[in-house]
Order: sequence, then structure tokens, then C-alpha cells
Amino acid sequence: MSAATPLNSAREGAEHFDVLIVGAGISGVGGAVHLQQQCPDKSFVLLETQASFGGTWLTHKYPGIRSDSDLYTFGYRFKPWSGKPIATAEAIRDYMGEVIEERGLASHIRYHHTVNTARWDSEAALWTLEVRNAVDGSVKVFTGRFLWMCQGYYRHSKGYTPQWPGMDTFKGDIVHPQEWQEDYDYTGKRVLVIGSGATAATVVPAMADKAAHVTMLQRSPTYFAPGENRNELADSLRELDIPEEWVHEIVRRRILKDGQEIARRSFEEPEGLKAELLGAARAYLGPDYEVEKHFTPSYRPWRQRLAFIPDGDLFKGIAEGKASVVTDEIDCFVENGVKTRSGEILEADLILTATGFNLCILGDIDFTIDGTPLRFEDSYTWLGMLYSGVPNMCWVFGYLRTSWTMRSDLIGDFVCRLLKHMDETGVQIVTPTLREEDKAAPPAPFVNPENFNAGYLLRSMDQLPKQGPSLPWQFPQDYYRERELIPAAKLDDATLVYGTAKAVQTATK
Ligand SMILES: Cc1cc2nc3c(=O)[nH]c(=O)nc-3n(C[C@H](O)[C@H](O)[C@H](O)COP(=O)(O)OP(=O)(O)OC[C@H]3O[C@@H](n4cnc5c(N)ncnc54)[C@H](O)[C@@H]3O)c2cc1C
Repeated sequence: MSAATPLNSAREGAEHFDVLIVGAGISGVGGAVHLQQQCPDKSFVLLETQASFGGTWLTHKYPGIRSDSDLYTFGYRFKPWSGKPIATAEAIRDYMGEVIEERGLASHIRYHHTVNTARWDSEAALWTLEVRNAVDGSVKVFTGRFLWMCQGYYRHSKGYTPQWPGMDTFKGDIVHPQEWQEDYDYTGKRVLVIGSGATAATVVPAMADKAAHVTMLQRSPTYFAPGENRNELADSLRELDIPEEWVHEIVRRRILKDGQEIARRSFEEPEGLKAELLGAARAYLGPDYEVEKHFTPSYRPWRQRLAFIPDGDLFKGIAEGKASVVTDEIDCFVENGVKTRSGEILEADLILTATGFNLCILGDIDFTIDGTPLRFEDSYTWLGMLYSGVPNMCWVFGYLRTSWTMRSDLIGDFVCRLLKHMDETGVQIVTPTLREEDKAAPPAPFVNPENFNAGYLLRSMDQLPKQGPSLPWQFPQDYYRERELIPAAKLDDATLVYGTAKAVQTATK
């Protein structure tokens, strides 16, 4: 426990830490490293429901599972990436495993620990978590001063599958990629993949060799960026024996600069950018392929992260006839497949519903603040990190366009700065609080649907906190703004209301 912790705050039978981190995915493990580096006196624990670390990269086991953004930016700022830019889940977990080993984090992580309830007590300035051990069912209590929510944003236990008429009549298997079992044998099967996001773009080419045929059925097209799975600049720097730390930093800067240019063009010259992406698809698919129908989305590029397809594998699978794309809506499921609105029967033995996630806000944890259940949807976000009316808590929600981790690193620095500020000023509580002027305008959604069109967000926007009329009650979701904004965010701003625990007030009287 930190020497600066002024309270003997451990509750009977509870384990106490300065900081409680929920989740051992890329955000939780990264947060722990930032804490170790920047607040070395703080004690901390990572509570993780699964049997191991990795989060997203442990949960998903479908064929070909890989990142859709490059690992120079999806990797941490503090740990060079030396593999291929687009990485398999296994390579990402190996990388995280090295971080855990190099930083001595293993003893800080409690696996099979599911956080069920989180209760904030202002008098004690303390979070109390009830945590169920998924192996033996026992319940433990953890207390902590600050709650660092790194639980991601979707429900790991179950993916999102819409209900279509006739699903029960289909004679084959219907599987959501999130629930894929590694030993499932699809050799020689006719596979129908519903959806055309990054997951579909991964499984279609990955299954094409073993399956009899793979069909991707999409309601509407998605943009894909094909390219070689190598980074030329990194290769050149390595030829010159430049240290890996430098390669990592230089390549990150290049990729981020290029990303900024894509973002600019998506707003200022969307047609030019669109033409380039479609041209790249055409180069793989040939002049006779219906690129307009199957790969020309109605929205402008960059409303979702642009899925990079390494070596154009999706397009190659289609060009070779192992895979095909149907752009149509589902009318119903039938015994031997799916009937589309246009009346076509798409025959299948296996249907993979790559239809997205269920948003899971705050890890399905039952939150109360001083005895009152938290209505998270009523709170306002403070720069997409803290939440009005929720003391001593941050939720790591990464970037939707730039790599997620670029934001979790920025938040890591911010939380450490905040914790140090609180120690220096002798306070134990920070509560983001709306001023009168902040309530003047109607609230805006957590993320702007005009700017991002991911289905899981649009489906669940009503459960998410709100944005206010001006900073800091906004969530820019823009790395290029936030890399200036977050490090400069004022901690003595009137929107952050500080307090002391009752026990401290009594002790100092
Ligand atoms: C298939 C797929 C591919 C993706 N590819 C990319 C990509 O290429 N680039 C990119 O930037 N983003 C990508 N994303 C988004 C991705 O989720 C994030 O980038 C990132 O991995 C999220 O990390 P995280 O640690 O914040 O959350 P998660 O990876 O979701 O990890 C959260 C952890 O918290 C645990 N947890 C949740 N609730 C509780 C609880 N109540 N108690 C205890 N533990 C709990 C979970 O078990 C999990 O291990 C992808 C997402 C998916 C699903």
C-alpha cells in the first residue's frame, strides 16, 4: 500500500489495494505497466474473469483470428513490436506474455476472478468489489481507492446474432465466431458467413482452403485496404541495424502520420480516397468483377477502422473462386441454407454469424454510489475517461479508428497524473461534476453516429453515457486532437470536485 495512503482502509476480510484494475486484456496489462512506472508506490491488482490474459485475443479463436490494425500502433508505446504488422491473436498474446514477464506482473493478476458488484463509499473514499471465483464459486472482497475499468466494451461470453425467421429449421450448424471451438472440423463443408466486417474478412480466406466453398453474405459492403503484410520503413531501418526501440517509435510516427492524412482525406476528399480503395480491390478482382455492387459502401471511408487485408487474401480467395460474395438481405433460413430477399437459396452446411458484438458496459458489474444504483446512461463523460457522478473511476475506451492502444496509453498517463495530483494535494476523492452551464444544452450521444457507424454502438447508444456541450464533457475519439488535449487536461478545473474521506477529516481535527 502506498505510504501516502492516509487511511487504514482495508475492510475486515477484504484485500486492499490502492488501485483495482478490472480486466487483463491489452488495456489492463498496459495500465498496470503505466502505474508501475509512474506511480511505483501504488499497490494494485488485476482482476480477470478468464483463465489467462489477452482479453479479445484470448476469447476469439475462429480460423485466422488476427488484428485488423498494425501492431506498431496496437502494441504498447513501451514495448517494441518486431513481428509482422498484422498479427495473429497468438502473436499478440505472446507479446503481452513478454510484457507480463518482463515487468513481473504475474503475481498481480488474479485469474478466474469475476467482479460482480462495485460499491463506492464516500465516507471511507473506498470502492468495495465483490468478486466471484469462477473455479470454486467462492466470493472474495477487494477494496481499493481507485477503480481502473479495463473490461473492454463487449460481452465476451456471447456474440450478437440477430434472429431471422426459420433459423430452427436449418439442418446444419449456426456458430457465432466469438463462440468458435478450435477443434470444429469444417473440411469439405459449404460455409456461409453472414456479415462483412473485419471478422468476416478474416474467416473467409482462412476457411477457403479447407471448406468446399465459402460465401460471404452481406447486407451492405465494407471498405477494405489490401496490402503487403510488411512495413517497408521498418525493414529499411532494420537493415541499418537501428535499435528496435527506435524502429518502433519511428514506424509508429509514420503510421500515425499516414493515418492522419487518411482521416483528412476522408473528410475533405472522400471521393478520391474511395476511388483509391476501390481501385485496389479491382486490381485483385479483375475488370469483370462487380466491385461497385460488392465492395462499394454507401458511407464515406473511415467511419470505422479501415480493415487492412494482408496480402489481399480476401480478394485473392474470391479471384481464385474459393470464396464468393453475395450482397443481399436475408429473407429467412431454410433447411439447407438461407433464402435471400431476391429469392436465391444459398446452400450451406455451416453458417457463421459474423454479425458483431453485444455491447457490455462496465463489465456487467452492478454499481452503486453511496447506496444508490448507478445509472451510467445518465452520466456525462469527462474526455471519454471519467464520468460525472462516479468518483475515482476511469473506463478505458480506446480508439475506433486509430489503434485502441494509442488511447489506453494516453489514459494510462492521465490516471497516473491524476493519482499523483491527489496525493500531492492530500485528497482522496475526485468526482467529475457538471456545472450549471454544462447542463444548458441537450446531451449528445457518447460517440457521434455521423462519424462512426459500428452497429454495436448504434444498437446500444441509449445505455452509454452522454457528451456535453463543451470540453471537458466531450469524447473527441480523435487521436490527433487527444494527444494534445489529454496530457494538457487541467486537474484543477472546476469540473473535477475533490474531497477527503471522513476518516481523514476526523484524524486531522
Ligand atoms: C475480433 C476483434 C478484433 C479486433 N481487432 C482490433 C484491431 O486490430 N485493432 C484495434 O485497435 N482494435 C481491435 N479490436 C477492438 C479490441 O477489442 C480492442 O482493441 C482491445 O483488444 C480491447 O482491449 P481491452 O483490454 O480494453 O478489452 P478486452 O480485450 O475486451 O479485455 C477485457 C478483459 O476484461 C475482462 N472482464 C470483463 N468484465 C469483467 C468482470 N466483470 N470481471 C473480471 N474481468 C472482466 C474480460 O474477460 C477481458 O479479458 C478488435 C476487437 C475484436 C473483437
